[in-house]
Amino acid sequence: MKTYDSPPRGDPLAPRPCVLCAGTSFKRLWKLEGFSFARCTSCGLIQQNPQPLREAVLARYGEDYLAYEAERQFDYRALELKALADLSFDQLVAPLLDDAKARGRKPRLLDVGCATGALLEHFQGLGWAVTGVEASEAQAIYGRKTYGLDIRASTLEDAKLAAASFDLVHASQLIEHLNDPGAFLLETRRLLGPGGLLFLATPNADGFQARLLGRRWRSAINDHLYLFSLSTISDLLDECGFEILATATWGGWAQGLKPGFIKPSLDRWAKARGRGDVMAIAARPRTAGRGGTNA
Ligand SMILES: [Zn+2]
Repeated sequence: MKTYDSPPRGDPLAPRPCVLCAGTSFKRLWKLEGFSFARCTSCGLIQQNPQPLREAVLARYGEDYLAYEAERQFDYRALELKALADLSFDQLVAPLLDDAKARGRKPRLLDVGCATGALLEHFQGLGWAVTGVEASEAQAIYGRKTYGLDIRASTLEDAKLAAASFDLVHASQLIEHLNDPGAFLLETRRLLGPGGLLFLATPNADGFQARLLGRRWRSAINDHLYLFSLSTISDLLDECGFEILATATWGGWAQGLKPGFIKPSLDRWAKARGRGDVMAIAARPRTAGRGGTNA
């Protein structure tokens, strides 16, 4: 079964240069109902190109998403926490926590695409100062009412948060939905204070399931404008001034796919080889070198 998705609505499509290499030559990869994926012939990034404009993309995230997310919010939070653990989260954030303590303030977390705010609620309970950004207003309102959280109903760019105002930015299953993932990464870099960390999770287009299933892969959906591999996301992070600290992938065989008995061994194999279905990445702004300084 595919991931939750908005059905294509015949939105006008516009071609755009490749977000990673600015190339304009694409080879059709998968044709689906009302949309298709292409591969950039220069850098290999898989993308919808042409793709719907920003306004049409934003209009997708309404009430329907709330019902879907609210029902699964604790399952998703458990997966997000597992991903963070796989990236050795506790070790990576230890210096940030020490620094915040020395300054007599709470460590500051921003969750972009925070949905109902379940992850923020968890970190708030651990003593973090938490802020959420969520394009779906219905979900932002749910999180404010249910958990008393500070959630901005906005895109990250439109939220206009102060520079260097966060120690940690988290964005799970978000970057593949954005028209301009490069602009998003540059904005997160602006928001991170010295020593700040970025944690991302996104489908792995180089994973076992993507390679096996092709256009039937559960993440080959209308709402995903980009499908990254570890190689293409690493290149984009590098271009936007980040260095990668840790990566992990997981999920070898989809839940419910037959035969089910091979799932445990395939899951282990995929994880060991970096061929898992979803990948998570920890990165930090580079302080010097290509992509400029973190000034
Ligand atoms: Zn490209």
